[in-house]
Amino acid sequence: MEAARLGIAPARITEARVPRIDLDPLLHGVSKPARYSGGEWNSIVRPWDDAEIRWALIYPDVYDVGMSNGGLAILYDLLNHTPSTLAERAFAPWPDMEASLREHGAPLFSLENRRPLAEFDALGFSLSYELTYTNVCNMLDLAGIAVVAAERADDAPIIFAGGSGALVPEPLALVIDAFILGEGEDVILEVTEVLRDWKSAGGGPRVELLRQLARVPGGYVPRFYRWAYQPDGTVAEVESLDAAAPLPVVKRFMQGMPPILTKPIVPFLETVHDRAGIEIQRGCTQGCRFCQAGMIYRPLRERTPEEVVAGARELLANTGYDELSLVSLSSTDHSQIDGIVAALRGEFGDGLGISLPSTRVDSFSVDVALACAPRRKRSMTFAPEAGSQRLRNAVSKLVADEDLLAAARNAFENGWSSIKLYFMVGLPTETMADVQGIVDWAAQVKQIGREVVGKRARVRVSTSNHVPKAHAPFQWARQDTAAELEPKHQLLREGCRAARLDFTWNDPAESILEGVLSRGDRRVGEAVVEAWRRGAGFDAWSEYHDPAIWEAAFAAHGVDPDFYCHRERDLWERFPWMHIASGVSEAYLRREWMRTHRELTTIDCRDGCQVCGLEHAAQLCELKLQDRVLTQRARKAGEPLPVVV
Ligand code: SF4
Repeated sequence: MEAARLGIAPARITEARVPRIDLDPLLHGVSKPARYSGGEWNSIVRPWDDAEIRWALIYPDVYDVGMSNGGLAILYDLLNHTPSTLAERAFAPWPDMEASLREHGAPLFSLENRRPLAEFDALGFSLSYELTYTNVCNMLDLAGIAVVAAERADDAPIIFAGGSGALVPEPLALVIDAFILGEGEDVILEVTEVLRDWKSAGGGPRVELLRQLARVPGGYVPRFYRWAYQPDGTVAEVESLDAAAPLPVVKRFMQGMPPILTKPIVPFLETVHDRAGIEIQRGCTQGCRFCQAGMIYRPLRERTPEEVVAGARELLANTGYDELSLVSLSSTDHSQIDGIVAALRGEFGDGLGISLPSTRVDSFSVDVALACAPRRKRSMTFAPEAGSQRLRNAVSKLVADEDLLAAARNAFENGWSSIKLYFMVGLPTETMADVQGIVDWAAQVKQIGREVVGKRARVRVSTSNHVPKAHAPFQWARQDTAAELEPKHQLLREGCRAARLDFTWNDPAESILEGVLSRGDRRVGEAVVEAWRRGAGFDAWSEYHDPAIWEAAFAAHGVDPDFYCHRERDLWERFPWMHIASGVSEAYLRREWMRTHRELTTIDCRDGCQVCGLEHAAQLCELKLQDRVLTQRARKAGEPLPVVV
């Protein structure tokens, strides 16, 4: 495989052992140089020569985005507090910096010791968004490391990838040496010990080290698996080629929550989430059928209010922030969220801004938001996801019309004048009547706003195109084509204009690329490398996303986007992610998909275990399942219901 992008000078490392990179010539004329300088408050610079194992932790997007990734920050802290180990950061250089690196023949480097990435033992990419995959290729090339795993020399760094994208690994299987599946903080020290033992024993052929990594539970090494396809293009089977390579590969997760990160790096420049954050719970119990995160981060784990307050005390002292975000997939679902907010208020008073990045659609959430921000009232966001009760039932979004309208009234009455409503377009079974429902519903919210706050009332409708994801009940669904989305967007544009609602939507072309990568197989992986070679990069940024490059790359490798996106799957089709056990069982997902077509909701599993597959893997789930069984037995026998503690 050619290691240079067409029309762009290749990166090269000009010496075998490059000393600390000199920034001065590189940063001349480059925007936001603080993205590359390091030295931020709380960053950790461990002596390079003292470390036995050196990790570069990489987010394949620009610094401003990557610095908001909580997972990488946890691993950075964990590794840097492990003896004889260091971890440094790297982010995708913005195109002006890439041009500077290539012009000067300088390799991509880490922020802490400013060492070329090729000097590290291991590079760990965080994959949280499919449209960053060409940046992974480009960063390796800029580091002077072969982009294709099979072409790497024995002494090249091992290229790892983790995060949610690692659970659908095949689109990057040509590039990544080893994926780490599941919660990285549970696995990374075991992987580090394998690297350390290997290095101290003098190393050897790369394939032997990869074999050892495949034996680490949660480790997936693509080169040890072979795929076969049916004549119609669907998967026939996946085969393990090595005794060290398990089938399936089981995702790792922790029974509890990791310690709170109390000394995160404070960037010099504004980042996407420019505030302190504490993850108050992990996992989600709602079971919305489109939501991959709601499935793959199960089971639910919560922090206590005492833990949150103690963590916040240290965190705020260590960072100087005056705003704290209570992070989770649905923060107002935490069983003690009001207790957490009250405890934080009691400790820090009204001077602390508290934000909830995600809330349920109900009046309780408004009450919690009010306690969080008694004075500073920005826009209130609700995510009803679908515009009609019928469609919300089909996707199992447990929100009733009256919940939203009551929540909106509560928000306007308590001082908010701006409400943002977030919906998806293109959900399975959606009709134009459902799309019209979005406008009608938003118009009702606006009317309530007018009644309460008059002309100041502002309602913003924001839609995204539904992209079916693996490991979620809608993994069987077809995705709307651009031609199908167009009249829906048209209806929304006109309807919102008439009702004086602000409206934003996203580009169908980007959604289709995301769709191909989200359910892609190893053949798609060839097109990813090809697209990078043809100049693709920063595909999540509309100013850089070039659909023509991808069309050419798909054509060159016989990848038909319709096959990956716009085809409803047979209920028993084998998927390119079937070798990955995410925790939630295929049987549960299939049942949920079948309930979609009958428009049947499934209850939140806080209210009764739905036996999703984790009931014997997670201690808390096992207890919930026991509760359910005991309750059912007691009901049958007419006995008093057991008391659940
Ligand atoms: S096993 Fe039961 S309680 Fe646990 S996440 Fe699944 S449905 Fe919820």
